[in-house]
Amino acid sequence: MPSPISATLVWFRKDLRLGDNRALVAAIQNGQPVIAIYIREPQNAETGPLGAAQAWWLHHSLKSLADALQQRGSRLILRSGPAATVLEDLIRETGANAVHWNRRYDPAGMAIDTEIKTRLRQAGLEARSHSGFLLHEPSQVKTGSGGPYRVYTPFWRAIERGGDPPPPLAAPDALQAPANWPDSDALESWKLLPTKPNWAKSFEGIWTPGEDGAQKRLEHFLKVGIKGYRSRRDFPAADSTSQLSAHLALGEISPARIWHGTLDLPDAIASEDIVHFRKELVWRDFSYHLLFHFPTLREENWNAKFDGFPWVKNQTLLQAWQQGRTGYPIVDAGMRQLWQHGTMHNRVRMIAASFLIKDLMIDWRDGEAWFRDTLVDADPASNAASWQWVAGSGADASPFFRIFNPITQGEKFDPDGAYIRQFLPELAKLPNSLIHKPFEAPTPILAKAGVVLGSTYPAPIVEHKLAREKALAAYKALSADD
Ligand code: FAD
Repeated sequence: MPSPISATLVWFRKDLRLGDNRALVAAIQNGQPVIAIYIREPQNAETGPLGAAQAWWLHHSLKSLADALQQRGSRLILRSGPAATVLEDLIRETGANAVHWNRRYDPAGMAIDTEIKTRLRQAGLEARSHSGFLLHEPSQVKTGSGGPYRVYTPFWRAIERGGDPPPPLAAPDALQAPANWPDSDALESWKLLPTKPNWAKSFEGIWTPGEDGAQKRLEHFLKVGIKGYRSRRDFPAADSTSQLSAHLALGEISPARIWHGTLDLPDAIASEDIVHFRKELVWRDFSYHLLFHFPTLREENWNAKFDGFPWVKNQTLLQAWQQGRTGYPIVDAGMRQLWQHGTMHNRVRMIAASFLIKDLMIDWRDGEAWFRDTLVDADPASNAASWQWVAGSGADASPFFRIFNPITQGEKFDPDGAYIRQFLPELAKLPNSLIHKPFEAPTPILAKAGVVLGSTYPAPIVEHKLAREKALAAYKALSADD
């Protein structure tokens, strides 16, 4: 006879939701009190420390989860320290003999979880991990020869062939409480929010972290954003993408719920829009597939040929890029959006990343680190895979010689300059024809718009045409060494 379970711990990590949470549902099925915990683990070198923007998000997300648990007669217990030690303490304090969690896929997290599972099972406890952070488990999507995918399109086809992910599970109405609650840290004591200065003030008006906020974003997107998604998603001034990435990064909504939201949409929504949106969602799975099978994705060039690339170390140029002072409006608007809102439109991420890597020839890892600290959706897999994609060093990457032209990209995807005007008000009065290239504007037009290059707005820090040639020459020299 198995010993009766006295209490079950549910260890929340990047799954800060009650709906479609398999670990929670399995814990409830044990029929015993459920104790929900979140552990602030020591920041580790491999996945990198929690970025400042995401720390802001985490604070609000934990608060939202704690409120949702309270509404169901339960609590969220917060503890700090190495996960194995915290879990052992809680097991001793509560008499729990089962621990459930949803899987994570970053290499450092997986190593911790594997060790914990072994230790708990050796001690005779039930230790079970569940799926739900991704559409499909990275270990289960295999090529014909049984290996991992390296190219996106066949990966997508395999996902498509596999059919829909399992339907999302409902959130529980109530949770059985233990007779005594273990102690919890106070969320405020974790100091996740910035104070002096409170640079995240502007986040408050645009983001609603937490499961309810995620669900509302999804509903809004399915109602107004998905129609025309395929053609409109590249235009940064349009409200045409889901803005779900930060909610997904901390698991406030499951990708399966999003996928199922795209089934049975009204006929007025073209299937090409729906399929294209699903394909983007699958890029997230593909990034995790890469990280799972190639755990050094964040630190090392996927393509070792790039190890010899002559990266430029230049703090002044790096800071100009970080602060949105490159003199190229589309790059600067993106970098200011990142600073002000903790996000950047995908098209502009590609342009800004290309500028750092190719025009400034600064190592993609410096860009990855800056994004990790400033993005609310910072994600170990999507960030690393996307930076390597732009650099040309990644799996199925954009070739290095495809160098984004920041002027023509701006003109094409922000033709009326609405995005530039929002984030670079100092250029707002320039005509559309010059707003993406103020350095080509005749002096009287600059004067009329109140722009003084080098003073109210920077002159270009490099000349794109020359920078492009230099980067291509460096790449050619690298190829010659093959
Ligand atoms: P939508 O267009 O609505 O797409 C739906 C979902 O699909 C997104 O929420 C996201 O989860 C996923 N998705 C879309 N595009 C991609 C992509 N290229 N790669 C992986 N998943 C994708 N995304 C992150 O979530 N975290 C990151 O740290 C991150 N860093 C990036 C760095 C660079 C240099 C680049 C070029 C892209 C990066 N992306 C990252 C991918 C992409 O820019 C964002 O996922 C997207 O802008 C989020 O907006 P959305 O939710 O409105 O996307």
